[in-house]
Amino acid sequence: AKNSSLQSFDYYHPSMEEETLRRLDLVSRLRSDFAERKLEVWFQPQVELETGRIIGAEALLRWPQADGSFISPAVFIPLAEYSGLIVEIGAWVLEEACKEVQQFDALGLPELRVAVNVSVPQFRTKDFPERLDATLKRYNVAPDRIELEITESIVMEDPELVADILRRLKSTGMQVAIDDFGVGFSSLSYIQKLPLDRLKIDRSFVQNACTDSGRIIIETIVDMAHRLGLSVLAEGIETEDQARYFKHLKCGEAQGYLFAHPMPAKELKALLKQ
Ligand code: C2E
Ligand code: CA
Ligand code: CA
Ligand code: CA
Repeated sequence: AKNSSLQSFDYYHPSMEEETLRRLDLVSRLRSDFAERKLEVWFQPQVELETGRIIGAEALLRWPQADGSFISPAVFIPLAEYSGLIVEIGAWVLEEACKEVQQFDALGLPELRVAVNVSVPQFRTKDFPERLDATLKRYNVAPDRIELEITESIVMEDPELVADILRRLKSTGMQVAIDDFGVGFSSLSYIQKLPLDRLKIDRSFVQNACTDSGRIIIETIVDMAHRLGLSVLAEGIETEDQARYFKHLKCGEAQGYLFAHPMPAKELKALLKQ
């Protein structure tokens, strides 16, 4: 009989190769689909809890497949980051966001803020703030209409560099939010050192709003944010109970399936016209 560790080696080895091949295949398909303009940017409304009014939208990438399905960004974003493709794709997402803001204004729609996710490699490209500023100017978009969502992993990678870039971004009037707040288990000290506007409470905390310990953590985060003069947005609100709870906490803003799923830009414009 085979030794069990050998057996697991025999089994593991080919599957790792397959996994690598599958990833390489995905990256090359992503590269060609991006070049052929097959990626889409969808938008998920963000609402003011007190009034239910739509005050912003988060830009979210979508990669449609021939069969009508979508490959999740949770799958392809890490590959785009790893391959470096995210730098170009991210710049394109920012451009699409600016185009939408320009169109909202041309249509006389409410002045939404559009939030865009920024990856580490993108954030670290040379002259990121200056290039971004040039894009805004090209579309005649006021900097306070665009919010950058950065994660704790960006901050932790090089806190001083990040502080410098954020100061340059803020000096143009751009808004900055910390995304997935609390999941990185990182030091909280950066929060007070960086020029931030908003803190997005991760969905995993929102899901625990039904437990006593979950509420203690949420209330601590919201209180801390408010004392530091930051706005708070709760992510992944799915139920009326969750919405009521965050409204009661005076957590100003929320995003989640309860209000709206991510949708193509056209649908968002139709929704805003109503
Ligand atoms: P994220 O930035 O945390 O975005 C929020 C995710 O939560 C989105 O998933 C959104 O569709 C989902 N979501 C919103 N409300 C609810 C809800 O009520 N319940 C549940 N279960 N989920 C909700 P999505 O679109 O699949 O994106 C996944 C992640 O991919 C994003 O997480 C973000 O990290 C990344 N991503 C998406 N677009 C971009 C992009 O343009 N650039 C970069 N760098 N990353 C992106
Ligand atoms: Ca985000
Ligand atoms: Ca998030
Ligand atoms: Ca998340």
